[in-house]
Amino acid sequence: MTRIAFIGLGIMGSPMAVHLQNAGHDVVGHNRSPEKTARLVEAGGTAAASVAEAVADADVVALMVPDSPDVTEVLTGEGGVLASARPGTLIIDFSTIRPDVTVELAARAREQGFRILDAPVSGGEAGAKNAALSIMVGGPAEDFEAARPILDVVGRTVVHVGPAGSGQTVKAANQLIVAGNIGLLAEAIVFLEAYGVDTAAAVTVLGGGLAGSAVLEQKAEKMLNRSFEPGFRIDLHHKDLGIVTSAAREAGVTIPLGATVAQLMQSARSNGEGSLDHSALFRTVERLAGRDRGARDD
Ligand code: NAP
Repeated sequence: MTRIAFIGLGIMGSPMAVHLQNAGHDVVGHNRSPEKTARLVEAGGTAAASVAEAVADADVVALMVPDSPDVTEVLTGEGGVLASARPGTLIIDFSTIRPDVTVELAARAREQGFRILDAPVSGGEAGAKNAALSIMVGGPAEDFEAARPILDVVGRTVVHVGPAGSGQTVKAANQLIVAGNIGLLAEAIVFLEAYGVDTAAAVTVLGGGLAGSAVLEQKAEKMLNRSFEPGFRIDLHHKDLGIVTSAAREAGVTIPLGATVAQLMQSARSNGEGSLDHSALFRTVERLAGRDRGARDD
C-alpha cells in the first residue's frame, strides 16, 4: 500500500483518485472547492483541507489541475508540495501544461531532492472513469519504473516517451490531432444535415471505414443530440491549442490546420461556450454556415 496525495479532484482527478483508493492505496485528496472530495471519501479515501496537509506523509503526490500556473502554484507556492512533502517523494503530474514550464519545474523539484514525472493523459472522462487512459510519461526511466504500478491502475496504454517535458510535448501533439478531428467531424455533420441525410445512419457507416475514430465514437452523438455537457471543456482545449501553436512556432514548425482549429476554438470561447464540452465546436461550425439561425431546410 502506498500513501498517495491527490491534488485536483475535478472531472478527471476524482475518478482517478477513486481507482487508486479501490486498488488498495491510501489516498488523501485535496481540491480547491472542498465538495469535490466527496466521491473519494465515499470510496474510503481521506479529504485534506490544504496541499500541505495532503502531502505531509505521502510517498507519492499526484496532480490533476487545469493549467501551468495551477501546477506552478501547487508545487512551488507557499505551503506547496516542494515546501511540505518529504524529499524523495515521487511527484506525478497528470495535468496538461506547457512543456517548457514542466522542464523548469522538474529541474527545481530535482534540485530539492524530489523525483518528478510529467504524465499527461488522453482518453477523456470515459477513459478516467474506466481506468483506460493513455498516459505519455516524461522523466528519468527509473522514476517511470517506480511509478508504473500506480500508472497502470488508471491507464491502459502507458508509455515512457523520453526525458522531462516529453510527455507534455506528446500530449500537445495529441491535442492537435483531437481538435482537428473534432473540427472535421463537426463540418461533416453540418454538411450531412444540410442535405437532410439520416445522420445517425451516416455516422454508423462512417465509423466502420477510414473516417472512423475515437473522436467519432465519443463525440458524434453529442453533436447529433446537441448535448454538450463536459467532458473536456472548450476552455481547456483552447489552453492546449495555445500550448501547441506556441511550441510549434518555437520549433519553426508550420501547423496550418492546427492554427485554423485554434481560431475556431477561440471563437467558441468568445461566444460564451468555454464551459461546454469541446464537441460544442460543432456550434461554431454551425454558426459559420448560418445554420444556427433556422437556416435548416430539412
Ligand atoms: P477540472 O474538472 O476543471 O478539474 C481540475 C480541478 O483542479 C478542479 O476541481 C479545481 O478545483 C482543481 N484545482 C485547481 N487549482 C487547484 C489548486 N491550486 N489546489 C487544489 N485544487 C485545484 O478539469 P479536468 O477536466 O479534470 O482537467 C484537468 C487536467 O487534465 C487539465 O490539464 C486538462 O487539460 C487535462 N485533461 C482533461 C481531460 C478531460 O477529458 N476532461 C482529458 C485529458 C486531459 P475547482 O473545483 O475549485 O475549480
